[in-house]
Amino acid sequence: MSKYTGPVCKLCRREGEKLFLKGQRCFSPKCAFEKRSYPPGEHGRTAQFRRRRVSDYQRQLRGKQKVRRVYGVAERQFRRYYRMAVKRRGKTGENLLQMLETRLDNVVYRMGFSESRAHARTLVVHGHFNVNGRRTNIPSMLIRPGDEIVVREGSRTRTYFKELGDLAESRSIPRWIERDAKKLRGKVLLMPERQDIDASLNEQLIIEYYSR
Ligand code: SF4
Repeated sequence: MSKYTGPVCKLCRREGEKLFLKGQRCFSPKCAFEKRSYPPGEHGRTAQFRRRRVSDYQRQLRGKQKVRRVYGVAERQFRRYYRMAVKRRGKTGENLLQMLETRLDNVVYRMGFSESRAHARTLVVHGHFNVNGRRTNIPSMLIRPGDEIVVREGSRTRTYFKELGDLAESRSIPRWIERDAKKLRGKVLLMPERQDIDASLNEQLIIEYYSR
């Protein structure tokens, strides 16, 4: 599945808020949104002062794009998740967020083994993790309760993983995950519920967008 390879900070500026897509840089003065909080493009600076009525469609589109960008998922795959969420029992919006949250790249990020989701994706694609004892390089793999994720033996000699233990220890983890930072392993204990997922994401807008 293709991934977005354009300028990442533009996405925050387009959404009008920090999406924290670049790890440490997002917390530093180098953050592009701190310097230019207006939308990208030729008319971006003037657009921020224009008072325009925002249509329902614009609200829905922006709500959907925000979630898609936070999790780094392409439109086609995102739509597929939506269709799967509709078919599952329970609330569609929550099902969708739950699926995104349990993607392998997101779980690696949540375990504190990467700086950002994009970084987690790269680590997974490069085959640095075993899931339940098997080497896995598919970032979109959906993780289930009981699944164990471990940094592979061969990867532990790399400088990044040698220093990761202390770094990961300083990163907090959600309640649905168990982690042994020193041993570079973690386990998913339960499915994340709505309260475990970023409250600023509005799943209702996604449903409205795809139900038009
Ligand atoms: Fe967004 Fe991070 Fe770039 Fe700031 S540094 S604009 S928060 S991706």
